[in-house]
Amino acid sequence: MSRHVIVTGASRGIGAAVARHFTDLGDTVVAFSRSGDAPEGCAAAMAVDVSDAAAVAAAVKDAIGRFGPVSVAVANAGITRDGLALRMTDEQWREVLATNLDGAFYTARAVLASMVRARGGSIIFMGSVSPFLGVPGQANYAAAKAGLVGLARSLAKEVASRAITVNVVAPGFIDTDMTQALGESGEQLTALIPMGRVGTPSEIADAVGFLASNQARYITGTVLAVDGGLSMGL
Ligand code: NAP
Repeated sequence: MSRHVIVTGASRGIGAAVARHFTDLGDTVVAFSRSGDAPEGCAAAMAVDVSDAAAVAAAVKDAIGRFGPVSVAVANAGITRDGLALRMTDEQWREVLATNLDGAFYTARAVLASMVRARGGSIIFMGSVSPFLGVPGQANYAAAKAGLVGLARSLAKEVASRAITVNVVAPGFIDTDMTQALGESGEQLTALIPMGRVGTPSEIADAVGFLASNQARYITGTVLAVDGGLSMGL
């Protein structure tokens, strides 16, 4: 049966691969991004800034009106604004927290009522290995991604009795626009990956697809690292 799937940050990179994963399965995918772009095959593409709570609530309401209750929500939208903590501006800190953590909360909150009524659903947050490794220059990003773990686990307990699962996928170093900018430090990071290569967006999408599937219905509150072994023991 076709599921109604909302993916944030679906215009490119990991989010686009996640959206494609679900459209390939025949699901009805609604793509959110700032630009409003989406991969071919999505049922709808909406320009939504996830850091705007009212905009997220309105877009989810619209999607539910058109496609019915949400079965799967993937809160993937994310940004980096790197800088050493000593020199990090309030703006760099707030922007990253607002998109990566507030945006994930707004998305989850907006879909929850429809999942509770349907007595089922999956929420997947796009985390990162960064809070487990510690990354100089990414105090804002690592703090936001660590926050997702607390959010996921608390929410998982709140809704477990309704057969709603809440999990975090923690990618390592994945080949997208976000990591293109790393240059030489990207090569240094790749050298630390036991599997010796960066990951692909579709390898992250496979993990998301699994957590949203029937095969994962007894998995909740977990953090699944998909990182070629970078964070073993996370
Ligand atoms: P990306 O290629 O830079 O894509 C980011 C996506 O997020 C775009 O679709 C962008 O939309 C969207 N977005 C950004 N701010 C938004 C906002 N305020 N409202 C709505 N959409 C917004 O990044 P990516 O590498 O695919 O990363 C996707 C997720 O994976 C992020 O949460 C990131 O932190 C996480 N992650 C990535 C890696 C990696 O190595 N790449 C590693 C660990 C975790 P527009 O196109 O409209 O700008």
